[in-house]
Amino acid sequence: MSGQPTPQAAEGAAPAPAGPRPPVVELIGVEKTFDAGTPKAFTALKDLSFRVDDLPGHGELIAIIGPSGCGKSTVLNLIQGFPDVYPPTRGQVRVRGRQVVGPGRDRGMIFQRYSSFPNRTVLRNVTFGLELNRRELGLSRRQMDELARQWIARVGLAGHENKYPHQLSGGQRQRVAIARSLVLKPRIILMDEPFSALDEPTRYDMQKLITGLWHDLEATVFIVTHSIAEAVFLGDRVWLMTPAPGRIGRTFDDVIPPTRDADPLLVQESRAFKDAVGEVAHAFHEIQSGRAG
Ligand code: ADP
Repeated sequence: MSGQPTPQAAEGAAPAPAGPRPPVVELIGVEKTFDAGTPKAFTALKDLSFRVDDLPGHGELIAIIGPSGCGKSTVLNLIQGFPDVYPPTRGQVRVRGRQVVGPGRDRGMIFQRYSSFPNRTVLRNVTFGLELNRRELGLSRRQMDELARQWIARVGLAGHENKYPHQLSGGQRQRVAIARSLVLKPRIILMDEPFSALDEPTRYDMQKLITGLWHDLEATVFIVTHSIAEAVFLGDRVWLMTPAPGRIGRTFDDVIPPTRDADPLLVQESRAFKDAVGEVAHAFHEIQSGRAG
């Protein structure tokens, strides 16, 4: 999968239909077969349908877990409209009622691997998307810099504006990637194993940062993780996918009480948290061994 930044100048979706507020994201009967029609053909997703309703004034985080290769990243790439993966072989991917046609500023993607520009400073990395959409956003250079500085401070990097990525730690670089994406105020944030390259204490710091930010943004966040503990800590909902061809095998709502601004270490020591992780881990094991889903 590409770890490179994707230019997101165009809103990659067709015109919105009139009527009641459509779901934020809806997948309808999605199948994705890679290398279709060749001997290498592989069906990663099949009959995958779900909808995430719009909750006005409310952020929601959906954590997606499942066996390796079950199509988790493929789901995010389809929602993003990433050209290497989009369109699906069958079915539809809709964002706010409009069929996706490509990447758009309304959807921000954050990858495991640091995906910013090595030859740009922190400030210029964060202004990148603003520059690309400058005309549409109607921002002056000063306004772009001001907005970028605000986000750099929000992710805890004030004072590092003029540094280059190689002068930062892995955790700091991931903070840049988060600021770079969030400065565009995406309504949907797609995170693909964003913290798995980080050491444990840094991971806890990032989890804490994220629980604060996504509620403020009132965005819908999808996070793919291989860590059940991380899914349970971060997720308002946890979706467990079946082995490929992947679909949603089990869903867990309200697995633990809200963790907004909570200390991940304290929460993760609690009995309620350990019980929830145990329940999800048990279901994961069942689904992986083909006894459920
Ligand atoms: P996960 O994120 O759950 O580990 P992925 O969505 O990355 O799984 O991949 C699902 C399956 O589809 C894997 O077997 C993978 O090898 C295959 N796959 C993913 N992207 C491509 C591609 N661009 N071309 C061919 N096969 C792919």
